[in-house]
Amino acid sequence: MENKPKKPTPSIKQNHGRHQDPVARRSNFDEVALGFGLEEAVTEAARCLNCKNKPCELACPVNVRIPEFVDLVHKEDLGAAASKIFETSLFPAICGRVCPQETYCEAACVLKDRFGPVSIGRLERFTADYARKNGLIKPPACAPDTGRKVACVGSGPTSLAVAAELRKLGHAVTVFEALHEFGGVLSYGIPTFRLPREVVRFEVDMLRKMGVRLLKNVMVGKSITIDELKKDFDVIYIGSGAGLPTPMNAPGEDLVGVYSSNEFLTRVNLMEAYKFPAVDTPYYVGKRVVVVGGGNTAMDSARCAMRLKPERVTLLYRRTRAEMPARGEEVENAMEEGIKFEFLTAPVELEGDEKGRLKRVKCVRMELGAPDASGRRRPVPQKGSEFYIEADSLVVAIGQSPNPVIQQTTAGLSVNKWGGIITEEATGKTSLDGIYAGGDVVRGGATVLLAMKDGKAAARAIHEKLSAKVN
Ligand code: FAD
Repeated sequence: MENKPKKPTPSIKQNHGRHQDPVARRSNFDEVALGFGLEEAVTEAARCLNCKNKPCELACPVNVRIPEFVDLVHKEDLGAAASKIFETSLFPAICGRVCPQETYCEAACVLKDRFGPVSIGRLERFTADYARKNGLIKPPACAPDTGRKVACVGSGPTSLAVAAELRKLGHAVTVFEALHEFGGVLSYGIPTFRLPREVVRFEVDMLRKMGVRLLKNVMVGKSITIDELKKDFDVIYIGSGAGLPTPMNAPGEDLVGVYSSNEFLTRVNLMEAYKFPAVDTPYYVGKRVVVVGGGNTAMDSARCAMRLKPERVTLLYRRTRAEMPARGEEVENAMEEGIKFEFLTAPVELEGDEKGRLKRVKCVRMELGAPDASGRRRPVPQKGSEFYIEADSLVVAIGQSPNPVIQQTTAGLSVNKWGGIITEEATGKTSLDGIYAGGDVVRGGATVLLAMKDGKAAARAIHEKLSAKVN
């Protein structure tokens, strides 16, 4: 690249990257964030001060070697930059797109307050995409076979991290996935306009190339039990996620047109209902859609609904924007796309017509009271503030609990009152010998990086256990 900026150039303002036009993108499922070109990436990389104590790297749950890979981007050595990321994370094109960098690495960047942090997520994505498109990514080397066998239940980020780490160390790994596509929420929940399917497939395929066996359409606990798996595997890792919808428990929730976010997103993303009638997955949103919730799932549901071309999408959240758990970027994207946000608002009753179809939503305005157990101010209904919103469909996105099948079919597995598997935090060990767990099935709904972090920690502990057996 000519005129390459000399390092460091921190006072150049942060480049957030280009986005698809908000009006155009409302009617397609193509990626919204367009990413950097080479020149933008090199210029952004030049802003990094290469801090001695690496605050960004320390803030990353999987400790990606951020200053080193950013420096390699600046030197335009993108194969080496990708290899540097690969040392700690095999899924950079995924993490570069969906990790909440604003609360991890970018929050720790020393440039944050004056000029905006280095766009670490965008650089990670650029590096991974460039390396993928230019054939620069080679599966990491694996140690000779140890003869030890590990089963991973589920194929979300936590199991994928376990599989990658243990395969590198020479153990035989088999992943059992209940659905017909691998990736967990990355495939069935997060829409393609945030995370294209080919990106997930490429990174999953890397595991296959490393020799990981990936089996789909196997519901552990139904098709085969944990006790049966124990006969064939030395260790089992449970990464079955948190896909059980939390209901609102409001009257009328069983009306036609009311979906859980899980059903809605699976239908639209995994079953590709947005391609109807080219695919035969039916969906119904009607003209007026209401989405309830304030997390990433609510944003994804609202933005998917918008792309199915209703007249309007309204999002109800019972606190204010400041308390929303969704990534800031996704809230902004949703607002740009024309989703109407009703803050401090909660649905109290869903009313239907004579055919049992949703017709309108009775809502109440809230105000924020004293902080609750989560530390956030508790929403309190305002007396006499009831009002109605006309609606043909409504998506409930107020949280998910751990998938229960394995807990229900595995005697002796300790679970908490929300159905989450209880583990030793540093190792993922459960109450049963040789059985580990991590990710959302332990934490409840969390993040991709925390799921990966759990997987890496459990892989270390599992390796230790298996090595003790080998010697
Ligand atoms: P999952 O990804 O849920 O994977 C679990 C897998 O196990 C699934 O494929 C499931 O089918 C399978 N399974 C379940 N039971 C069985 C069984 N009995 N047998 C076999 N397989 C089974 N996090 C972020 O960091 N950034 C985001 O932008 C973001 N957006 C999100 C958007 C949505 C819509 C949702 C729902 C979550 C989002 N999250 C996001 C959270 C993040 O995706 C999760 O924290 C993460 O995927 C958890 O990983 P996991 O591997 O524990 O579980």
